[in-house]
Amino acid sequence: MPSPQRFAALQAIQQRQPVATAPVQKLSEIWASDVFSLDKMKAALPKEIFKSVQRTIREGSKLDVSVANVVAQAMKEWAVSRGALYYSHVFYPLTNSTAEKHDGFISPQGDGSAITEFTGKLLVQGEPDGSSFPNGGIRSTFEARGYTAWDITSPAYLMETPNGITLCIPTVFVSWTGEALDKKTPLLRSNAAVDRQARRLLSLLGEKDIAPVSSSCGAEQEYFLIDRAYLSLRPDLLLAGRTLFGHPSAKGQQFDDHYFGAIPERVQVFMQEVERSLYRLGIPAKTRHNEVAPSQFEIAPFHEAANVATDHQQLTMTVLRETARKHGMVCLLHEKPFAGINGSGKHVNWSIGNATQGNLLDPGNTPHENLQFLIFCGAVIRGVHLYGPLMRAAIATASNDHRLGANEAPPAIISVYLGSQLEDVFQQIRGGQLSGSAIGGMMDFGIDTLPEFPRDAGDRNRTSPFAFTGNRFEFRAVGSGQSVAGPLVVLNTILADSIAWIADALEARLNQGEPLDQAALAVLQVVMQQHGQVVFGGNGYSEEWHHMAVAERGLENLRTTADALPVLERPAIRELFERTGVLTPVELQSRFEVYAEQYILAIDVEAKLAVQIAQTQIYPAAMRYVGDLSAILQRQSALGVPVSTQLCQRVSALCQTLLECTTSLEEAIASPPHGTEAHLRHAADVLVPRMNRVREVVDELEGLVDDDLWPLPTYQELLFVR
Ligand code: ADP
Ligand code: MG
Repeated sequence: MPSPQRFAALQAIQQRQPVATAPVQKLSEIWASDVFSLDKMKAALPKEIFKSVQRTIREGSKLDVSVANVVAQAMKEWAVSRGALYYSHVFYPLTNSTAEKHDGFISPQGDGSAITEFTGKLLVQGEPDGSSFPNGGIRSTFEARGYTAWDITSPAYLMETPNGITLCIPTVFVSWTGEALDKKTPLLRSNAAVDRQARRLLSLLGEKDIAPVSSSCGAEQEYFLIDRAYLSLRPDLLLAGRTLFGHPSAKGQQFDDHYFGAIPERVQVFMQEVERSLYRLGIPAKTRHNEVAPSQFEIAPFHEAANVATDHQQLTMTVLRETARKHGMVCLLHEKPFAGINGSGKHVNWSIGNATQGNLLDPGNTPHENLQFLIFCGAVIRGVHLYGPLMRAAIATASNDHRLGANEAPPAIISVYLGSQLEDVFQQIRGGQLSGSAIGGMMDFGIDTLPEFPRDAGDRNRTSPFAFTGNRFEFRAVGSGQSVAGPLVVLNTILADSIAWIADALEARLNQGEPLDQAALAVLQVVMQQHGQVVFGGNGYSEEWHHMAVAERGLENLRTTADALPVLERPAIRELFERTGVLTPVELQSRFEVYAEQYILAIDVEAKLAVQIAQTQIYPAAMRYVGDLSAILQRQSALGVPVSTQLCQRVSALCQTLLECTTSLEEAIASPPHGTEAHLRHAADVLVPRMNRVREVVDELEGLVDDDLWPLPTYQELLFVR
């Protein structure tokens, strides 16, 4: 029998029914219905104004204030016609969250009446106080001005709650002195850097008609769903988003019976509501399935321009959380909610392209003949080799550290997987002789009725952190709870920088009169000779790779956030961001400070929680069990029945160890060192191991103590009862 409070939760869960919310609707009725989309603007705006807006979005030209006034008016009319009374500038602070400040459209008139009002100035600029957002020392609170400014490239939308509708306007968030305090500003800058350099390279490659180049992103989101009834019984899930304790369930994921299995009805109903909400927001949700671990699922959209995809990804996380609540569940976006089974990642699929040349990372069927592809792909390889540690730093959080290198997710060593065909082509380039591309051939199923189709030229590799997947790269080491902005900023920046280097080298050769093909291949040969060692097609989980990567290939293995974040302080990184115009040294330093602080705070909260739960819930339960056992043993021996005191002694000894471990953890919490770097190390090297030790003891106790007395819902309940 589980303890009474767990029993009550289990009973509540038995009663639950799938929550049907609204009648099924056609896609055409709901698609983007809550978005002030380009076609709505086109219908509402005078032709010239609409053209000007379109130019700004497509070509990045400056936005005219007179235009903003007209757009604001139309936007307000649309929102008010839908029932909105408030608008909100939405921005993305350096935490992984979304922030909003709400203002009313209301404008009281002298005669006691009130009208709605919204001007271009209010649309374009806002001033949330924002002094409480982490800024890494850029602003002191006495000069706390922060401004939000409309990002016209990401559409405004309506957010509906049961009692009202708010018009949401995506914005950047900058300080009074113009420094980026958010994640969107550098993303837009990094995209502009890619655009500048890619257009330059395309023109060197002989292209004449070149549309603006932009990065694209499609992010696959993994998540866990558990019943909400458990939350109040698990302070660790409530406050840290993961279980700090939990004896493994006898059944985990070893049967692989959940992966791509039939989706449970209650979950499918939840997913359908999520998808409907996303469609209304113009977010192209495209796939859904069960993931590897029990109670783990995935949702992926069709890819979009990186900036819009990033805003949409943030919204997707919000919609997942909110919808789960409505359905009596909790959506866990933490990277490792449960020990011993898979964690959750967010695969960031990324490419660059434009309207005239298309996807610049599409190899076609004969990549060896596709100079444009080879040179852009070569730029990626060079960027990853030079700045792999920066990519690692961009995904460094306390929670993602549980995943990376744990043989379920990619290792912390950043390498590039190209697939056999491309790896061969790039090896040919390295050797200076480009002869051909191995082709995939046709698939033969051995079944006559099935149509033939061509085999992909390369297989997948699940063990690589950064894999080429046909026409894009997939950054697989990103954490499930992270904003994709940081990883995208890094990918765009290192690519822009590498394209610039390649363009310089190519230009120099062309100026010497070398023919284009020969010059391009010569530059690529240098790239491969200097950076080819980052390409790896083998098993990224293996011991050999961990050894070879570091000892023979000179790649870095930055295991923890405390190892990875200081990369942001390296001079080469400062120069990279400055050269590309993506982050100033002050902005970069502030990011280091903020991310380091978040890591330290996350570990600190977990450590305190571990102490609290161990002392106030686990120790009392285990001691009560020792008391029960001793009473029985005493009565038995009084009766002259032979007794075994083994279990009683073992539990009692574990209780003693638990006290010692929690005391030692408490001491470490109470005495943090000074200075950010030292504090980072303290969290990683002292707090985490001591927390792990407490966990070992608690989990062992869970396997021994009477289930009647155990206060925390077990892994078996959390993962299998819903
Ligand atoms: P898989 O699980 O096989 O990786 P999914 O269909 O789950 O495939 O996800 C693939 C993701 O990659 C989708 O979000 C898709 O839109 C995205 N994607 C495809 N092409 C591109 C591209 N050119 N740029 C960015 N993302 C892309
Ligand atoms: Mg994928």
